[in-house]
Amino acid sequence: MARYTEAVCRLCRREGLKLFLKGERCYTDKCAIERRNYPPGEHGQGRSKFSEYAIQLREKQKVKRIYRLMERQFHRYFVAAEKAKEITGEKLLLLLEQRLDNMIYRMGFATSRSEARQLVRHGHFCVDGRKVDIPSYLLRPGQVVSVGESSRSVTRIVDALEQAERRGVPDWLEVQREAFSGRVKALPTRIDLTMPINEKLVVELYSK
Ligand code: SF4
Repeated sequence: MARYTEAVCRLCRREGLKLFLKGERCYTDKCAIERRNYPPGEHGQGRSKFSEYAIQLREKQKVKRIYRLMERQFHRYFVAAEKAKEITGEKLLLLLEQRLDNMIYRMGFATSRSEARQLVRHGHFCVDGRKVDIPSYLLRPGQVVSVGESSRSVTRIVDALEQAERRGVPDWLEVQREAFSGRVKALPTRIDLTMPINEKLVVELYSK
């Protein structure tokens, strides 16, 4: 499977925004955005005017990078959102939020979405008591995610849970840290998603 292999802090600098891709480091003054908040590369500090297309493209890249998806995968979510009855942009974000790797990150069992994805692939999590190793699995309200019995001593999960207290857990989730489990109380609404995303620009880009 294709994956992004370059330095992830460059992605944040490109978008001019903390995308929280590196776990604990993102909350320290070692964060590249804190030190060099301008696009990477030779001409990083040069351009100031952007076309409508460039603005839409940047927004799409930003959302794709937050959820750590490649283009084809991301586009598939857009197609699914377009077919749904809801507002396309909002449905797109909702589908991305429903992914198991995202929920695990939100619940605090991993320090970043990419770490969550790796932990899921390694079979450390169960959904409603059954092992699920598919990061794109979409969770529904009422479902319970738990760390497998034999994975409760995995250092990355234990450390992530400790660090997660600072991040907090969104209202639509309920986490019992001592029990290594979390429940989806409800799906988030648009207002619950606080990252500065203008999903309408993504819809406009793909609708050209
Ligand atoms: Fe982005 Fe985190 Fe790197 Fe900061 S430390 S630039 S938030 S990935």
